Amino acid sequence: MGTLLRGGVVLPMAPERRRRLLQPGSVLFDGVEIVAVGTVEELDADPRAAGPDVEVIDATGFAVLPGLHNCHLHSGLLRGTAEGLALFDWLQTYVDPAHRALTPEIAEAASWLCYAEALRSGTTSVMDMWRFLDGSARVAGELGIRATLVPYVADETGYDYFESIDSTRALLAKHRESYDGRVRSWVGLEHLFYCTERAFADASALAAEYDTGLHVHSSESRWEVEESLRRYGHRPLAEIARRGALDGGRAVVAHCVWLDDAEIDLLAATGTRVAHCPASNMKLASGPAPVPKLWAAGVTVGIGSDGEKENNNLDILEEAKIASLLQKLVGLDPTAGDPWDILAMATIEGARCLGLGELTGSLEPGKRADVIMVDLRKLHTTPLLSGADANVAAHLVFSSSGQDVDSVWAAGRRLLAGGRLLTADEAAIRSRAQAAAEELFARRAALT
Ligand SMILES: [Zn+2]
Repeated sequence: MGTLLRGGVVLPMAPERRRRLLQPGSVLFDGVEIVAVGTVEELDADPRAAGPDVEVIDATGFAVLPGLHNCHLHSGLLRGTAEGLALFDWLQTYVDPAHRALTPEIAEAASWLCYAEALRSGTTSVMDMWRFLDGSARVAGELGIRATLVPYVADETGYDYFESIDSTRALLAKHRESYDGRVRSWVGLEHLFYCTERAFADASALAAEYDTGLHVHSSESRWEVEESLRRYGHRPLAEIARRGALDGGRAVVAHCVWLDDAEIDLLAATGTRVAHCPASNMKLASGPAPVPKLWAAGVTVGIGSDGEKENNNLDILEEAKIASLLQKLVGLDPTAGDPWDILAMATIEGARCLGLGELTGSLEPGKRADVIMVDLRKLHTTPLLSGADANVAAHLVFSSSGQDVDSVWAAGRRLLAGGRLLTADEAAIRSRAQAAAEELFARRAALT
């Protein structure tokens, strides 16, 4: 059963032709893979698009682009209740106690909520650092989203309630790849201050054994850099490198706000990728990540929402706008944060960040059909112009939001149509999350 998206404004986002625009254009996919991308005339003349089993969807008035990648997310239920503190006070006051109170059932309800929200706003691939991830694997499997699951491992004194290397091994045994490769698991470490040298060594060895990526937070706040220098005599990334976690080019580091030039060189030299989370960095008053410098050094940067508690939504189109505006403001440079570069960060560069660049992230024949349609027939996306005046990239970054996402396919399966989830009941997800959150807050309040 094939699908032809006909007559949309197509942004293929192929790495070597990032700014290519087909206006109007068409995309044909069959089964799980993209078969052809071209002008309307080209695909109308393609016999593969003319079969009786090809469903034709009129994409006139819609942007057609690769599904978005959220390269750093935490499932959670604390939205709107963890406000007004800086990073490490915020972690100790709100986040760590919620981890102590978490149960597998509550964790799964959180993943239902967060993955559904992500999918509803055009994200086809999430990297979720979370706990009790067996349930999250089930959620991603049923919902149809692509997910990279990363256990929060911590073993420093006082953090024994987090995941462990043993629980990571158990997850890898089951979900190194599952659901036709759509669900994967990686190795994860919460943070330098949460993990011993032993945990770093074991995590690196486990990632090598299973040939997976390794995800960790670092260099998010200025205090953290000072504290790292005090504790270890090294800045955070140098210490993480010393502990072996950047070996083998496996690592994706979330945040990377406070970096010196040597650390940027270290990221580039080790093939380490960065998950940039601008809304979280602004909301926790952490600071602005030096994204233009990372790009100039050749570091792959994906975009992440971070958790629902520090954003407070998982809307990657909104995050794209924030990413662009932050670059302009910090550099006092109106040419920074170009919409095409930002869209690349949300699509193909995000896929590369997660090690999925050969599989998804752009609309090219042979890649998985991870495709979204964004409705441009809105007051806030009018006028829509073409040719020398083409403005769709600017519309998507600065005017559109996840609420404008009409349709989503992942691996060729339609998961959203007319803004409605096809693989899950939104009302049931909400009521389950509501009950789970109430239980979580009651359990947290009862902690001594
Ligand atoms: Zn995070």
